[in-house]
Amino acid sequence: MDIPRIFTISESAHRIHNPFTPEKYATLGHALRMKPGTRILDLGSGSGEMLCTWARDYGISGVGIDMSQLFSKQAKLRAEELGVTDRVDFIHNDAAGFVADEKYHVAACVGATWIAGGVAGTIKLLEKSLKHGGMILIGEPYWLQQPTTEEIARACGATCIADFLTLNGLVTFFDQLDYDVVEMVLADQEGWDRYEAAKWLTMRHWLAENPDDEFAEEVRTALTISPKRHVTYTREGGICINGTMI
Ligand code: SAH
Repeated sequence: MDIPRIFTISESAHRIHNPFTPEKYATLGHALRMKPGTRILDLGSGSGEMLCTWARDYGISGVGIDMSQLFSKQAKLRAEELGVTDRVDFIHNDAAGFVADEKYHVAACVGATWIAGGVAGTIKLLEKSLKHGGMILIGEPYWLQQPTTEEIARACGATCIADFLTLNGLVTFFDQLDYDVVEMVLADQEGWDRYEAAKWLTMRHWLAENPDDEFAEEVRTALTISPKRHVTYTREGGICINGTMI
């Protein structure tokens, strides 16, 4: 079981697999008032940077589940590196339908809400693992400007306009689902550059090291089109991610 190979190649050197920076994750942990004893479940935990750094900085404990073999392994290594293996654990698995036996104070899904078919489905799923009075943390992209055509939406990396809401639409949607939005930390252009541009150098290195790999053509194409797509569409007016706590 694994995720598509293009991600494990292009994001193999990423610690954070979304447009959040280490500073943004620290701000978010502070904003959510994380403290020793807080237990967090993280679906689609990637390379574990959120849980590992919050365990180090705020004394939380938690479990992350991720379908990427490589990212799950990297998360375990990061926990060792930061000396927090007694507090965080990472499981390589499909998180779809996952419900914890022992409930958590915080149930999170940052940049992976497709795991339960979108924002509403993910909230429903996370709620099942949440203690009474707990918090759900959702990281979801939103349109800075809603594309005027489906073609532009696809050029931004979405499958269609309906993939994402605007920030206003997203906050309204949480309200319609009958949740309070109680905090919000937004990614910015710098974070998008770190997320997207860091893939280019990783892909360039990978191509130099694996010229005869059957996947080389796909990586070559991705490297050719990604920088232009980023500066034309996603950087200025396309999608942006937020860390919303509801
Ligand atoms: N939250 C992480 C990673 C976000 S990227 C971070 O902030 O860095 C999305 C992640 O979802 C990837 O790590 C990918 O491997 C994982 N993923 C995709 N489908 C999944 C599934 N069905 N179950 C669990 N993880 C999944």
